[in-house]
Amino acid sequence: QAKRQGRNTFRFYTESMTSQATDRLQLETRLRRAVEQREFLLHYQPLMDLNTRRVVGVEALVRLKGPQGGEACLPSIGPDLFIPVMEDTGMIVALGEWVLREACRQGRVWLDEGLEFGRLAVNISPSEIRRGGVIERVTRILKQTGFPANRLELEITESGLMEHGENADLFLQQLHQMGVSISIDDFGTGYSSLAYLKRFPVHQLKIDRSFVQDLPGNANDAQLVSTMISLAHNLRMRVVAEGVEMPDQEAFLCAKGCDMAQGYLFSRPLPAAHVEKLLGSTRSQWSELSSL
Ligand code: C2E
Ligand code: MG
Ligand code: MG
Ligand code: MG
Repeated sequence: QAKRQGRNTFRFYTESMTSQATDRLQLETRLRRAVEQREFLLHYQPLMDLNTRRVVGVEALVRLKGPQGGEACLPSIGPDLFIPVMEDTGMIVALGEWVLREACRQGRVWLDEGLEFGRLAVNISPSEIRRGGVIERVTRILKQTGFPANRLELEITESGLMEHGENADLFLQQLHQMGVSISIDDFGTGYSSLAYLKRFPVHQLKIDRSFVQDLPGNANDAQLVSTMISLAHNLRMRVVAEGVEMPDQEAFLCAKGCDMAQGYLFSRPLPAAHVEKLLGSTRSQWSELSSL
């Protein structure tokens, strides 16, 4: 009986391993095709100033187009799933290049149309930094697109900077000298040395959604978020709360002096054309527009 069960367990195990490997291979193939045929698009999520209740920035978030192309995308294959695969395979370099160019191109169009979106935030993954060439890429793309450096913000996770170790200093100094802002993404989830934070020319901390979701009821999270807001302000950084979904979360963050917020309460990430409508309308018309 035990033997039989053991064998069944083993078979089940290998089958699920095989199907995992197959899934992974299929995803990799799908992504390779997507890179070759440029089957990605960007959505943009507004960042709100909590004092003025105005849009002060938009974050570009990459999406994989649906099988029919067009604006529809595959919600089941989000960046949390495909970015790690692209990092492992090196495809992240081509994707990162495309994302930055497309975001800057779009930003330039908005500037020319007189749409005030504030800053344009673009994510870069730790492995892109590790692989090098980011400074050259940013310089080249800003020049090619005519997008102003002081409107660009790069979002980097704590681990992205820590992994870069000694070179992070030089890397950030170069971006800073170019006029590009630096934002620490998912703050609080990685490990970061506070000494580094003080030394680096970092402009902004983005408090990870996991600390925000149980506000204001969870006393520990409430304490941690207040502490992170004070920390940022003491280091002369701005602070953003990610993943704000409820009005009482916004109220808590306002009361604690948090500068900015981003989340479904204000708007989901939207295609460029929808963001334009938000930028050109008042907050009261938003709920209709942002549910598109
Ligand atoms: P992130 O940079 O921390 O982006 C925030 C994520 O939270 C986005 O997920 C966004 O859609 C989601 N979000 C925003 N507001 C809310 C909310 O109120 N509630 C909830 N539940 N979620 C909210 P998304 O677009 O799936 O992206 C996931 C991650 O993938 C990003 O996290 C970022 O690390 C990475 N990513 C996205 N686009 C790019 C890109 O172009 N390049 C690189 N390297 N990474 C990217
Ligand atoms: Mg981000
Ligand atoms: Mg984040
Ligand atoms: Mg994240």
